[in-house]
Amino acid sequence: MIVIGGGLAGLSAGVALAEAGWRVHMFEQRPFLGGRATSYVLPNGEHVDNCQHVTLGCCTNLEDFYRRVGAQDKIKYFDRLLFQDPQGRTGVMRAGMLPAPLHMTGSFLTFAPLALADKKCIASALLDILRGKGHTGDLDTPGGISMLQWLEKRKQTPRAIERFWRVVLVSALDEELDRTDARFGVDVFWKGFLSNRTGYRMGVPAVPLAELYDGCQAEIERRGGEVNLRMPVRAIHFANGALESIEFDGGRRESAEAYVFAMPHQALAELLPQEIQKIEPSLAHLGNIRVSPITGVHFWFDREVMQEPFVTLLETTTQWIFNKTALYGANHGSGKVKGQYLQLVISASYDLLQKPRQEIIDLCLAELRHALPRAREAKLLKATVIKEAAATFSPQPGVDRWRPKQQTRVRSMFLAGDWTATGWPATMEGAVRSGYLAAEAVLRVAGTPKRILQPDLPPDGLVEMFT
Ligand SMILES: Cc1cc2nc3c(=O)[nH]c(=O)nc-3n(C[C@H](O)[C@H](O)[C@H](O)COP(=O)(O)OP(=O)(O)OC[C@H]3O[C@@H](n4cnc5c(N)ncnc54)[C@H](O)[C@@H]3O)c2cc1C
Repeated sequence: MIVIGGGLAGLSAGVALAEAGWRVHMFEQRPFLGGRATSYVLPNGEHVDNCQHVTLGCCTNLEDFYRRVGAQDKIKYFDRLLFQDPQGRTGVMRAGMLPAPLHMTGSFLTFAPLALADKKCIASALLDILRGKGHTGDLDTPGGISMLQWLEKRKQTPRAIERFWRVVLVSALDEELDRTDARFGVDVFWKGFLSNRTGYRMGVPAVPLAELYDGCQAEIERRGGEVNLRMPVRAIHFANGALESIEFDGGRRESAEAYVFAMPHQALAELLPQEIQKIEPSLAHLGNIRVSPITGVHFWFDREVMQEPFVTLLETTTQWIFNKTALYGANHGSGKVKGQYLQLVISASYDLLQKPRQEIIDLCLAELRHALPRAREAKLLKATVIKEAAATFSPQPGVDRWRPKQQTRVRSMFLAGDWTATGWPATMEGAVRSGYLAAEAVLRVAGTPKRILQPDLPPDGLVEMFT
């Protein structure tokens, strides 16, 4: 069995298939595993994440994957989300004493960055989501409707849109509200904030991302497989409509009983010959899946400038500030460096793509110094900007019709990747779901079906009373 791509989709498929008794041969083009959700070591020994990655309590498959590979203790969960507006007013979101779906009521009522009129219209829209169990009739509009249209239909105030819906959804979905299918937006609130008390809890890795995957290679090798790094697949060979082999540099070829292609959709599209689209028409539409950017800004200060583990800024270019020094603790990477290491995240960062790096640093530094008074006195020792132009696929209205299933009509060819049909947006959870679905498809075709996909968190508390 061959898996191409060592990101979360390939790793989750590979580990699940190894556990099911297959000898997995994984080929990854880069020198390390983890794909987009990984970290690098700088020449001075510091670890830098490709970009901060976070998970939520509702990401049940990612949690299952971390457990399988022994990484579950490397994720710290937080049940308090802190927001701060440009006037310095803060608001906290956390579950109180009440059962779901009322668990956030207390913090919502006292959330200072929103006024009463904003809260009223938000509550009414949330009730709509609740009554439909995460589905409202207008989501079935052919071709989808945008999240902005969905919100406008529900008469949300501009401040409610900007300081509530946009803040949560642009970070969760990496796209602006007018380019996001409302189905994804509604799902975030249903699964993350309404249906369950723990769905919103934010999990942040306490180690550099690459360290989360230490157990994957061991698991694949323990079952007789191998992980080959620096091995880009250069061509895919088909004969008589079936997959025959894959080719590497130097003309070396490998073949197997089954292949899981777990690479980004753009990379796969480049390798596929046109005739294969006649057998599997869904592969003809990969070009319709657009991508959206994320920019990460890394700041190293000479002293501590924030104590919170993370904070969300409202109405600024900077969306999140993560206190990497606190999150890693004293024993990891930047713990060796004096002072404080912060990572800022800007999702759907279209406006920054063309801007020079220094301009981005100046802009974010000014915002950070406005938000964190202690940063005004501190010296910035070093700064880096990492722009990912194709960070995730864009969850544009109707995008699901272009996402192929994991099982294809080409014999022995299976697909995985956050962009395949999972129903989820481009997230680590979506990638792991795709890997598990691909593994299930391989086992089904081999005549040894097995359930690997984990169920969602069940609705709890009083949720059923509202639906
Ligand atoms: C900046 C940024 C921030 C993000 N933040 C979050 C977050 O906070 N939370 C969250 O849930 N998600 C986040 N995501 C999204 C998340 O990283 C992805 O959805 C997920 O990692 C995708 O996994 P994947 O396995 O589908 O794809 P990838 O991770 O892209 O894996 C594909 C692998 O295939 C390899 N490959 C490509 N071509 C070839 C070839 N020819 N031969 C061999 N190998 C090949 C690549 O090197 C790569 O390792 C973020 C993404 C980015 C970029």
